Amino acid sequence: MAAPGTALSETLKALIAADGPIPVSVFMSMCLHDPVRGYYAKGGGLGRDFTTAPETSQAFGELIGLWCAHEWAALGAPDPFHLVELGPGRGTLMNDALRATRARADFHGSLALSLVEASPVLRTEQRSRLQPHGAPVQFAADLQAVPVGPMLLIANEFLDCLPARQFVKDGDGAWRERVIGLSSAGDFIFGLATEQAPPPASQPATKPAPTIEQAVEIQPALETLVHTLAARADPFRALFIDYGPADHTPSDTLRAFRSGQQVDPLEAPGDSDLTVDVDFRRLRTLAEAAGLSVHGPIPQGQFLMALGLQARLDRLIKANPQEAQSIFDQAQRLVDPDGMGTRFQVICLSRSGGDTDQATLPVPAGF
Ligand code: SAH
Repeated sequence: MAAPGTALSETLKALIAADGPIPVSVFMSMCLHDPVRGYYAKGGGLGRDFTTAPETSQAFGELIGLWCAHEWAALGAPDPFHLVELGPGRGTLMNDALRATRARADFHGSLALSLVEASPVLRTEQRSRLQPHGAPVQFAADLQAVPVGPMLLIANEFLDCLPARQFVKDGDGAWRERVIGLSSAGDFIFGLATEQAPPPASQPATKPAPTIEQAVEIQPALETLVHTLAARADPFRALFIDYGPADHTPSDTLRAFRSGQQVDPLEAPGDSDLTVDVDFRRLRTLAEAAGLSVHGPIPQGQFLMALGLQARLDRLIKANPQEAQSIFDQAQRLVDPDGMGTRFQVICLSRSGGDTDQATLPVPAGF
């Protein structure tokens, strides 16, 4: 137990000094989620340290909302059903989604809103933003805590904050876990665990030259997430949008952001956002192995255009002609082929539920 006022970096240093170097995932977890000094516990830096698609253009959340209403009908219009968002940030995506579907009284009348959010500060912000829509706002600590029943789930930039472990194949051919220890001067440094690790199940897609060290990054929580989804008996669709490669395992992508700048991940524990690329290939493989049906990953730009981004923009611009240029520019960023449009992937995991054949569910909109 840290004395009140102790900096998170001091707590981490004391832990390493006492018990030895810690895996990257433990460092990431403590930096993001220490209940008092963690980055998200303090409110996160959305809009300051980093920005996201829903914070860039309202068209993003609106299209996701219309997607939800469409897929709710595809699931047989269950009443009631859980509308779940993982990591809602400031509540912007859900706010835009609920506003865009306001005319769908049947959809709104059936939904029970569940937000999976770790940060008490962000929970307060989400509640005040979403309460005016009328649906009671329920919070859940994790997906396991969302009650049984049909579900539509959305998660934008949630998977990239799930802590990652890194494994490195060194010169002697053995795999070792990358850890964070202390230098002789008492600063955080990366190193490798002395004991060997079993070869990780996910291997990099390409074989590097023998002189180059091989590294793989694995988010254990992806597996937990898929198992939690697969354990649900009722029909659901879960849409994940995040950055990461579609077809290979990330190697060392741990990054930190502070005030819009990329900084050293070890520099300011709890004061910078830590993030990694999501291994979409692994997510797909895990979900298929768990018996879920999988669509994607496909690039975000392709998904949003297929959902009718152009028509949405035409409507927005017609209603606000004086802001036409900025509305267009913001939306353009989401589909930029040299930026978010291809760097972000979209994947949908579904279960038709009950004794119906998986194949009876239609392909989700946008895929
Ligand atoms: N989806 C939002 C915010 C992304 S930031 C947007 O697109 O703007 C990541 C969000 O996930 C934050 O709300 C953070 O508090 C939450 N989060 C991160 N890890 C979490 C975890 N393990 N459990 C619950 N919420 C988490």
